Amino acid sequence: MTHDPNCIFCKIVQGAIPSRKVHEDDEILAFHDINPWGPVHFLLIPKVHIASMAQLDEGHAGLMGRLMTLIPRLALQEGCRPYPQGGFRVVVNTGDDGLQEVQHLHVHVIGGPRPWKKG
Ligand code: 5GP
Ligand code: ZN
Repeated sequence: MTHDPNCIFCKIVQGAIPSRKVHEDDEILAFHDINPWGPVHFLLIPKVHIASMAQLDEGHAGLMGRLMTLIPRLALQEGCRPYPQGGFRVVVNTGDDGLQEVQHLHVHVIGGPRPWKKG
């Protein structure tokens, strides 16, 4: 299924729930997390509904390669300081043991000067 009508991030993709966008292209949306851990905290998601990282296979290599390689540019754009003094954390919570709350694959990017609220 491309979209899950009950999925909060699919609703963000479709514009039914507003978000503060960081980046959008044909396949990928990035937007600010509503409850940021640090000065910079945004999420990157594939526009298609993929429940979690556990569902990925080799067919997703292109999509996930494009998603991951957007991170350095977007991190600097959103206020992360340059590597190596700056940098950022990249987190993908997966499943119950991974403390995943929203069941649509998302990659957290958190950065900016510490201290952070979490992480
Ligand atoms: P998870 O625990 O699943 O890895 O993270 C889900 C993240 O989505 C949390 O950091 C939470 O703050 C964020 N989030 C949940 N609902 C919304 C929403 O409606 N809008 C935005 N922008 N972020 C959300
Ligand atoms: Zn979804």
